[in-house]
Amino acid sequence: MFEEERKRLVARLVGQGYVRTQPVISAMESVQRHRFLPDDVRRYAHSDTPLQIGRGQTISAPHMVGMMLELLELEEGYKVLEVGGGSGYHACLAAHIIGREGHVYSVEIIESLARQAEKNILAVGMHERVTVITGDGSKGLKRFAPFNRIMAACSAPSVPEPLIEQLTDPGIMVLPVGSGYFQELILVKKKNGEITQQRKGGVAFVPMRGEFGID
Ligand code: SAH
Repeated sequence: MFEEERKRLVARLVGQGYVRTQPVISAMESVQRHRFLPDDVRRYAHSDTPLQIGRGQTISAPHMVGMMLELLELEEGYKVLEVGGGSGYHACLAAHIIGREGHVYSVEIIESLARQAEKNILAVGMHERVTVITGDGSKGLKRFAPFNRIMAACSAPSVPEPLIEQLTDPGIMVLPVGSGYFQELILVKKKNGEITQQRKGGVAFVPMRGEFGID
């Protein structure tokens, strides 16, 4: 029932230049953002804004999710790590793009959010392509490493070393870095053993907790 609204939102993001490529467009048109939201905010599903998902955490604004997915240059069959699963929405978009042969491992540190994310992922039929793990994703997920792509939706004081280690070569990671309310979105690329970092603009994410996080 929200399909028209969703398409309008995606068209707006394309017009604004946040979203450019067909795989990202079709993922954002297909995955039903409203299914990842608590009842009290569901009616805002198609506003381009972050929303509360409980326990003081938020689902990122659609333009931010779209922008991060574009930066990741996802391809079919990839293995992806997400740090900060939250509602599971971002993970499902990535899973849509990498297709049946790919897999997303999404680590969420708050148990109740992880359980809810699993329900949300099941509700949109993506449970075979997304695995939610409760734990501290700041140290990556060694048992399923390496990952072709890594994305984080929570901000670390610096790029956590284990995440760099658990990236394939070549590989790409996108994450917010900074300990204040505003941070910088950083694009990390690993190629031929070399690591480069590019700044992609100011952002405001919740803090990354855990061993390589803020506390
Ligand atoms: N991608 C999510 C947005 C989640 S908000 C979505 O689409 O809904 C960021 C999440 O990161 C919060 O749920 C928070 O609990 C989680 N988080 C913070 N530190 C973490 C850590 N070290 N490991 C895993 N998750 C973490």
